[in-house]
Amino acid sequence: MLKTRFTEAFGVEYPIAQGGMQWVGKAQLVAAVANAGALGFITALTQPTPEELANEIRRTRDLTDKPFGVNLTILPTINPPPYAEYRRAIIEGGVKIVETAGYKPQEHIDDFKTHGVKVIHKCTAVRHALSAERMGADAISIDGFECAGHPGEDDIPGLILIPAAADKVSVPMLASGGFADGRGLVAALALGADGVNMGTRFCVTQEAQIPDSFKQRMVANDERQTDLIFRTLHNTARVMKNKVSEEVVAIERAGGAKFEDVQHLVAGKRGVAAMERGDTDDGIWSAGMVQGLIHDVPTVKELVDRIVAEAEEIIDRRLARMVERLAHAAA
Ligand code: NAD
Repeated sequence: MLKTRFTEAFGVEYPIAQGGMQWVGKAQLVAAVANAGALGFITALTQPTPEELANEIRRTRDLTDKPFGVNLTILPTINPPPYAEYRRAIIEGGVKIVETAGYKPQEHIDDFKTHGVKVIHKCTAVRHALSAERMGADAISIDGFECAGHPGEDDIPGLILIPAAADKVSVPMLASGGFADGRGLVAALALGADGVNMGTRFCVTQEAQIPDSFKQRMVANDERQTDLIFRTLHNTARVMKNKVSEEVVAIERAGGAKFEDVQHLVAGKRGVAAMERGDTDDGIWSAGMVQGLIHDVPTVKELVDRIVAEAEEIIDRRLARMVERLAHAAA
């Protein structure tokens, strides 16, 4: 059931991916996603060094014999990471699937393809999807404005972005941003995608190695509890609304802000320290509008099974009944 071009191309059971999530995409979660039949990604830059990424790849492989990938994000950072060394750790670690995200992925795609690694490029605009396809990406993950993290600067929601991309992209395509349940998966397939990518939803699972306070806050939050920061710096990021995000927004609204004016508030290091203390109000934390659809903390397997069962029920029964009724009415 639910075979798509994505499941065929990447050798997974279900058309569901857990894409890169800074500070969350670690072995325990990624292996649980793989064991549940979906495609999980270790987040490369969550590991402080390429050597530690190599260890995390080994740890994941100890926990699953199913396919999994690594995410490599290419966006502004306070300290530029040694990308070539991270790429080498991925290739030498025997990983066969990579999710790239962000700016100018050409050199990364070239290197991965030369070494027989399939690349899914995550992007937020049809023109970027087409350019990644021309660069040789094997699949696209198209990320709507609802998403956590970086939605780009065009503000196009998935309801438009997904079919607009599906009309033009030839390779398999995942829909990303705003997905949490079987209804979303069916909608994505109907809009022309071959599966969904979920971030925030996978954060709120038992296997995600983040404090329970973060999970409970995302469960309690509704769809309005996000802020867009870095708008004025053209590096927009959607984060969970908290004291720090509100402070950043206020500084940007005052006008003329430079990155240096907010760096102390937004630095990943501060976020990690807050996470270690379980303090959801210190540091910025990526989370999508989809928080409004998250009401529990299941295991990854419970979540994936539930999404698939719900999607099959909608396709086989709810939608099929509508078509039957139409057929009866016409007869
Ligand atoms: P960091 O500590 O280097 O930077 C913190 C934040 O500031 C990041 O969002 C980064 O994009 C932004 N930033 C850094 N320099 C900037 C500049 N000159 N102008 C504008 N914005 C700037 O980053 P980190 O927390 O260690 O994260 C490492 C990488 O992972 C970054 O590229 C970050 O964007 C990315 N990330 C992605 C997500 C997501 O997509 N869900 C979430 C968090 C971080």
